[in-house]
Amino acid sequence: MRWDNLSEPPTGDSALFGTDAVVTRTFDTPEFRGITFHEVRARSIVNRVPGASRMPFEWTVNPYRGCTHACVYCFARKTHSYLDLDTGLGFDSQIVVKTNAPELLRKQLSSPHWQGAHIAMGTNVDCYQRAEGRYELMPGIIAALRDHANPFSILTKGTLILRDLDLLLQAARVTDVGISVSVGFTDRELWRTVEPGTPAPERRLDVVRTLTDHGIGCGVLMAPVIPFLGDHPDQLRATVRAIAASGATSVTPLVLHLRPGAREWFTQWLDRHHPHLVRRYERLYAEGAYAPKWYQRRITRQVHELADEFGIGPARRGASRRVTPPSAQPHPQPSEPGPTQLTLL
Ligand code: SF4
Repeated sequence: MRWDNLSEPPTGDSALFGTDAVVTRTFDTPEFRGITFHEVRARSIVNRVPGASRMPFEWTVNPYRGCTHACVYCFARKTHSYLDLDTGLGFDSQIVVKTNAPELLRKQLSSPHWQGAHIAMGTNVDCYQRAEGRYELMPGIIAALRDHANPFSILTKGTLILRDLDLLLQAARVTDVGISVSVGFTDRELWRTVEPGTPAPERRLDVVRTLTDHGIGCGVLMAPVIPFLGDHPDQLRATVRAIAASGATSVTPLVLHLRPGAREWFTQWLDRHHPHLVRRYERLYAEGAYAPKWYQRRITRQVHELADEFGIGPARRGASRRVTPPSAQPHPQPSEPGPTQLTLL
């Protein structure tokens, strides 16, 4: 594998990311073509959630910013603007990598001030995106959490998590480990266009199956349910049926929301692929980032009824080891996103 040092001025990038040094690289392989990695040495890695009292978790670790999974609707796009980076293609292709995340986490967990609170991962961008295959930060992070018996949860769309199965099992022996996989729909056409960089939904459900088979209960965050494209009763039924067949211990639906950053990018995509829906979206999201409550309630009710019908829940296998991660609980909806705003996958 070849590293190509690009000629980004280190001083400019340092100011941009607020760190001491930035090394910018590309990899000359098909899977990373067109992707630029900005390697930084972060000053801290455990972040306190703004407005934590209203959130289901208080502390997060995010080793990456930007995400090559490139979901058009991604709620985290706005956070790239805090780095003066583009929230569209830039979010998909300019990836910030906190290369010292494992050592920094180990150090912070050793601090006498740290009380061993739950740490949520995958709350901003996917920690098992493709870059993780190259940088391998998560094994060190999980090992640190295991060694400190510190409870944690991971939310992901990445099948790469199975690489770390042994570590997850080791951690689950000494602390609470909650895993959730995000699968909003199983429609392949929709997947190819709206989540172009992600593993296929059925591959993600294979992850659920494998984790559950190994005794780590795994929930599914059914997110996002995309209005008019992924919300037909037949689509909901097919998705919940597939989730049930994977052995998921829970399913939590979440309707698409379109905050600034994501909204513009999604609307452009909608205009290209489904122009006849643009007006309907304008009406549905006329009040802001969220679909109306009546619509959200309808989807939630439908999914819960289907979950009952297909038997997803505590009676299923793996339930005795089930840990429902905070990141799988209903999404908090703060009104003013900040730089460290949680986005959830
Ligand atoms: S929704 Fe999640 S997986 Fe998709 S681009 Fe955003 S962070 Fe990555």
